Amino acid sequence: MIIELEKNEKHLKDIEQLVRRAGCRPEVIHGEIYNVVAVDGNTAGLDEEHIRSFPGVVKVWRVSSRYKTINRIAKGPDGLVLEKPRKIIKVKGPDGHTRKIGDGNYIFIAGPCAVESKEYLAKLCDDLKRMGDKLGITDRLIIRGGAFKPRTRPTDFRGLGMKAIDFLDKARERTGIPYITEVMGVDMVEEVSKHADMLQLGTRNYQNFNLLEEVGKQKKPVLYKRGVAAPLEEWLDAAEYIANQGNKKIILCERGVKSTTHGDYNRSHIDFDVIPAIKERTILPVVIDPSHSSGIEKMVPYQFRGATAYGANGTITEVMPDDYERRQLRCDAAQALRLSKYEELIRFQLRFEETFPEVSA
Ligand code: PEP
Ligand code: MN
Repeated sequence: MIIELEKNEKHLKDIEQLVRRAGCRPEVIHGEIYNVVAVDGNTAGLDEEHIRSFPGVVKVWRVSSRYKTINRIAKGPDGLVLEKPRKIIKVKGPDGHTRKIGDGNYIFIAGPCAVESKEYLAKLCDDLKRMGDKLGITDRLIIRGGAFKPRTRPTDFRGLGMKAIDFLDKARERTGIPYITEVMGVDMVEEVSKHADMLQLGTRNYQNFNLLEEVGKQKKPVLYKRGVAAPLEEWLDAAEYIANQGNKKIILCERGVKSTTHGDYNRSHIDFDVIPAIKERTILPVVIDPSHSSGIEKMVPYQFRGATAYGANGTITEVMPDDYERRQLRCDAAQALRLSKYEELIRFQLRFEETFPEVSA
């Protein structure tokens, strides 16, 4: 961290004291007009905003980033820059297959938006398994399904709660495929973790720090969605709340952000550029949610294929059987992708991996 301040003995002393109290070492360069303090050591405990409020401080900037645990770059034992290896997150299913996510391993997460009934979930999961077996990707498949649904309006269907978790457990038993489900509150994390193979943190909870920490205390991998208006660096800072508690099995998920679009051709704006940025800055995998970002079925394939071309580590997609009426769905009906179309997209991804292994890596 570098701090630039007006030349004044008292101001300089205050800053030096603050830096030392944080366990760091201040190195002062006495300039002609300003003094510059270069801070040596782990500056995680120093807050730029706080330093800016000190009298005489002109500018403050960080040389290294705050999110040390998930950062791609670290200080090596020889003091030189060390590039940490990318993380591969593993999820084992009762079928004996271990799903791998990250560093060249692409995951297909698919299922309903919400678990709406036991029968419907069972049918959809059976269909997904059949498709997975046919395409030879069941060992790369994870089921998604919401039991607790964050909804914009309180009168909308908000999920079946723990009953849905029971249905998901049964679907996993039937198919052998592990599942992911969303947790919305601190009080439910421990209980849901006993069942689910992976936890989902939704966009609306992206800065619910107590929830992030609670999820960080669990052993289950976490799919952590970006807030609808979250700058990348803020999102990564927040991910550190999870990692700091011990759980480093974090998968970042881009699901579209608020931008200049107003629902006339999509629901939100998908920020694909975040994929290379995350790969460059962190050791974490990044997946794309083409369902919530597009909001409409006909847009889902475009965004899915975009994720492929950008080298995402997977997708999480809301799907529905071909022989089911869309109007029967109580949650996110417009964006559910027909299974036959999902199958085409899986084939696209597989062909792409074969043709361009360097992009998928
Ligand atoms: C979901 O995946 O079911 C969901 C509610 O998504 P988001 O948090 O991205 O809106
Ligand atoms: Mn949904």
